[in-house]
Amino acid sequence: MSLPPIDTTYMLDFLRDLLNTPSPTGFAEAAVARVEESLAGFPGLELTRTRKGALVAAWPGREADRPRALTAHVDTLGAMVKEIKSNGRLKLTKIGGFAWNTVEGEGCTVFSAAGRNVRGALLLSKASSHVHGSQVGDLKRDDEIMEVRLDARTCSAAETRALGIEVGDFVAFDPRVEMTEGFVRSRHLDDKACVANLVTAVKALYDAGLQPAQKTYLHFSNFEEVGHGAAAGIPSDVVELVSVDMAAVGDGQTSDEFHATLCVKDSGGPYHHGMSQLMRGLAEDNGIAYKVDIYPYYGSDGEAYWRAGGDVALALIGPGVDASHNYERTHLDALVATTQWIIAYLLSDN
Ligand SMILES: [Zn+2]
Repeated sequence: MSLPPIDTTYMLDFLRDLLNTPSPTGFAEAAVARVEESLAGFPGLELTRTRKGALVAAWPGREADRPRALTAHVDTLGAMVKEIKSNGRLKLTKIGGFAWNTVEGEGCTVFSAAGRNVRGALLLSKASSHVHGSQVGDLKRDDEIMEVRLDARTCSAAETRALGIEVGDFVAFDPRVEMTEGFVRSRHLDDKACVANLVTAVKALYDAGLQPAQKTYLHFSNFEEVGHGAAAGIPSDVVELVSVDMAAVGDGQTSDEFHATLCVKDSGGPYHHGMSQLMRGLAEDNGIAYKVDIYPYYGSDGEAYWRAGGDVALALIGPGVDASHNYERTHLDALVATTQWIIAYLLSDN
């Protein structure tokens, strides 16, 4: 049986919209709501929220004796205001694992607790070459030396506080989404690309009038970047879990921007061999070109569930993303391959 077609226009439009919805971990509600709004258009999906704020869609299947789940995360890297400096600028604390140089010079939005959004940019505090000379290149980027320059008239802590900004406000870095020649260049393709893959897979089945082989839950996690996203919220009757998250591309990796990858081991150890074999078989049976890889510095939400005591067979698949946790890029080919793989899994009797 051939797989139903994928609406790539829908996928890219949804992805662009989701990428442009700020959602640093802890402040991901707008992105969760965006996914919820799209899935609400598919009758038969039962949508619920966990108390932690994740979205779970329950999808009836032809059978219900071996329920499955797939998980992807909408939360992203970001920051929080740590301190308001005496010059009115902001010191930040990071949310998630990234290096400051990857966001240096980037535009950002500060979301005040009072609901006001203030724009700005993240800079080295000694930013001007004409004032600081070689220090601009030489200084080590750390929490102490990076600051947000607000696009507001302030040169004191009091003036910044008068804008409504306070310690604890969330900060999102601009994704700078650009789609050219099949490439998608943006921050936070991790893991919004995979969220788009899941939602597009749902649409493909609905468009074709198909139902999943098994009762299937789609779990949209909102705390993955800090390590405990899917620790809660996977229904206890689930026997198989597929974590859908980006593949790490770089020197020594088999993954690339044009394929989906099966990850068989990462920092959390090996994945479930039987489940990985099942995913390989599905790719081969359906003509999906895929890579197999190991990610050296990586943990997945599926492993968060394992650590929390989840008793499931677990596999990890996802599109290759270059420069992960940096200014990322992938290609439509990888997004299509990942979506096809998800569809093949949804439809498979095993
Ligand atoms: Zn991720």
